[in-house]
Amino acid sequence: MDPREALWNLHLLDVAIAERQAAADALAVDPTTAARLADLRQRLDSLRSRARQVRSAQQAAELQLQSLRDKRRRLEQELYNGRLNPRELVNLQRELDALARQHAELENWILEQMEEAESVERELEQLDSELRELEAAYEAAVQDRAARSRALEAELAVLRQRREAQAACVDAALLERYERLRGRLHPPVAKLLGGVCGGCHVSLAPAFQERLRSADDGQPMACPACGRLLVP
Ligand SMILES: [Zn+2]
Repeated sequence: MDPREALWNLHLLDVAIAERQAAADALAVDPTTAARLADLRQRLDSLRSRARQVRSAQQAAELQLQSLRDKRRRLEQELYNGRLNPRELVNLQRELDALARQHAELENWILEQMEEAESVERELEQLDSELRELEAAYEAAVQDRAARSRALEAELAVLRQRREAQAACVDAALLERYERLRGRLHPPVAKLLGGVCGGCHVSLAPAFQERLRSADDGQPMACPACGRLLVP
């Protein structure tokens, strides 16, 4: 194989490997979705504990309401059994009025708590379905990334083998020169394109171009402007 063609093919393989490597590196887990998931889980947790608080406060209030009712019933029986004197009756009536007020206040409070509980439950349901959707999408994305990563790794393995075989076709001194250039120039090899260097786009003297095209040994020449290995 013509040394310049061998070098150019090696360069094309390196480009293909770099592209797939970059694609594989870019497959890291999407941090935005992971953060959103964590945030949603936290909101759901605090909402669940709020729902538990509301429910237990409501239960306590209902017990209190029940004991108020029992007390009222007892006092009302005393009121109607006719064994009290007028002064005791007045006091008892006062106590009953106060109990009635407490009872009404507590009932209102329980109603408010029930509304609060309903709104918390609604919010919980909505967040829960949002979380499940996001989790499903996240899981699908993780699977998809894993599949793409496996495919890229398989392609890379084939390309690396081909690259190794191709490198063996390039003269050792030229290969060393290429590897050195690769560390500082991207790409390290360029084609002569319409009289300019395909790497740095500087116009090349006609005599230089002619020498490059007709080189008997088939060796690439360095671009006088950028130092890239030029092939016709
Ligand atoms: Zn150049």
